[in-house]
Amino acid sequence: MSDVTLDRRGSTPAVPIVSPRELLPYALFAGVLMMLLIFFVGAEEGATSIIGGHSVHEFVHDARHLLGFPCH
Ligand SMILES: [Zn+2]
Repeated sequence: MSDVTLDRRGSTPAVPIVSPRELLPYALFAGVLMMLLIFFVGAEEGATSIIGGHSVHEFVHDARHLLGFPCH
């Protein structure tokens, strides 16, 4: 048996109502992950490098060029 709740007619699944307060922790977590991703793609080299060496830079090199960050 499915966990999907059906509306009164029983033909279409009901859309769950999610308040912004319930959504806030997930939005913050997604925002932090996106900022980390943008940092590693756009700024993880040279003086702003957290991880030594060129491994992270080379791993995200194509994404860096795709998004237009300055590289070389
Ligand atoms: Zn490059």
